[in-house]
Amino acid sequence: MKVDKWETPAAFFPWGHVQRYIDQIDAQVYSVAMDFAQEQFGEQAKSCPTCDTAAKKLVWFSVSSPESDWDTGTGKVGFLTLCEKCKLQVDFLIDDELTEMQDQQWRDIRALS
Ligand SMILES: [Zn+2]
Repeated sequence: MKVDKWETPAAFFPWGHVQRYIDQIDAQVYSVAMDFAQEQFGEQAKSCPTCDTAAKKLVWFSVSSPESDWDTGTGKVGFLTLCEKCKLQVDFLIDDELTEMQDQQWRDIRALS
């Protein structure tokens, strides 16, 4: 999936940043990880505001905030949902546990996992 040329408004992260995470998707762990994410966040995840596609039918993947946000202590890790048809970032579901771990790692070694 290529989103870095999409010109729709980027609700949560710049499209180029989102593309970095799409490019990192590991097919081997992807479906298990997304099942887990949907189990954890499926209830609260929004459906597409434009075409009403249900949250579970959207594209889900894990995203971390850009490096500059970790420097200012506002970084977040979570799951972004995309509607491929409408080219929209529909929802960003923050994972507090992963955010805490990443925050610690950023302070220790200044690296994103
Ligand atoms: Zn849609």
